[in-house]
Amino acid sequence: MPRLFVVILAGLLLGTSMTYAGVTPAERLSESIQFRTVSYQDRSHIDLNEFERFHTFLRAAYPKVFAQLEVEVINNYSLLIRWPGKDGELAPILFTAHMDVVPIESGTEGDWEFPPFDGVVANGRIYGRGSLDNKQGVLSLLEAAESLLAEDFSPSRQLVFAFGHDEEISGKQGARKIADRMREQGLHFAWMVDEGGMLVSDNPMVPDQQLAIINVAEKGYLTLTLVATGEGGHSSMPPRVSTIGRLSAALERIENNPFPTRLVVPVKVMLESMAPHLEQPERLILGNLWLTERLVTNRLSQDPLMNSFVRTTTALTMFNAGLKENVVPQRAEAKVNFRLLPGDTPEMVVNYISDVVNDPEIEISYDEWDYVPGLSDHEGTGYAVIAGAVSAVYPEALVVPSLMFATTDTRHYMELTDNQYRFQGMIIETSQAKSIHGTNEYIGVKSYEDSIEIARQMMKLGSR
Ligand SMILES: [Zn+2]
Repeated sequence: MPRLFVVILAGLLLGTSMTYAGVTPAERLSESIQFRTVSYQDRSHIDLNEFERFHTFLRAAYPKVFAQLEVEVINNYSLLIRWPGKDGELAPILFTAHMDVVPIESGTEGDWEFPPFDGVVANGRIYGRGSLDNKQGVLSLLEAAESLLAEDFSPSRQLVFAFGHDEEISGKQGARKIADRMREQGLHFAWMVDEGGMLVSDNPMVPDQQLAIINVAEKGYLTLTLVATGEGGHSSMPPRVSTIGRLSAALERIENNPFPTRLVVPVKVMLESMAPHLEQPERLILGNLWLTERLVTNRLSQDPLMNSFVRTTTALTMFNAGLKENVVPQRAEAKVNFRLLPGDTPEMVVNYISDVVNDPEIEISYDEWDYVPGLSDHEGTGYAVIAGAVSAVYPEALVVPSLMFATTDTRHYMELTDNQYRFQGMIIETSQAKSIHGTNEYIGVKSYEDSIEIARQMMKLGSR
């Protein structure tokens, strides 16, 4: 029977409204992009029907997953899927991804080579919003599970899949609710893997081979609010020191006193792993960090990207004061955003900044952290499974642990496992990175197929 006919027949038997799910993985990813599951900061703009239609498509596209595994819809639009293991004593593992995508920035629609929600397959690529972030993540996991079910694979330990629907706007309605449900179910995972790391084909640090980056930690996020209050009044009789002047001076001190540099474990291991692939003298320098750490951190801190790897960064982001040109304001307010290295805490930042500011007339406040980013074991089982899955598909690849600057849904699952890894097996060129949340997002068809195979390998190796 022709495959297309089988698909249509299956759709009829399921009683769905004839959702045509493509017959190849690339066609299915293409179709998934056509559902505009867009998250907007203002939730009233979100078209929730698109999420419902997307669910219907998933059910038609992955019939075995939805028939044979335990599927729960959480908070109407998120999905929790459990694949029970043969041995109930073994701790389960968790695979996560998100179904929502970011909007197209208005005015940039015309810059796309193909319309962002058409899912065009051309030039050996699948184009569209979500092709990398993160429909690829959701569908590659489902493709892997569906094909393993077709092979009658049955995992030793439980495999759990969690697909949130609002990662791009905090994950509070999606991943957080899924995590609440997991707590009710008493789930505690051996390890989890979320989006956030990938393979890069042309990293300049390792030009001779692919680099697989498994993020084992993320930077913390903290914003301090600084407020100067004081005498205001008419600008014809100004105070000697205005609130604006006082606060500006404090901010200048903050900017001139960055946090000290240091090498945290994943960054250290990453640099050491790269060393053998570099020319001299870099090979010698990075290969002997016990001796050269100061030299290396100093040099890295000169580059804005590398600087973020070696210190808690400081960014002055907002300054508000004054309403009228001839009135000295009684209040000036600024916000400073910090990205913390693993191990640094909000208290440490506040103490450090209070010392630097050293002005009792300036009040410093911040919002409590709702989670503390963990530092996962780069020598643990989960890491070894992911690295093994990469090697099965890309035997030449150099696999390194690293540190991620962005935040994902991972934060909602922190309490449910000690080991959070961030990796999905797609391979991109460095130039593609800016298309994530930007223009002309695409994934190579081969890259996508390989990511499915890596997901299959993770499930097979991990479930043992
Ligand atoms: Zn994402």
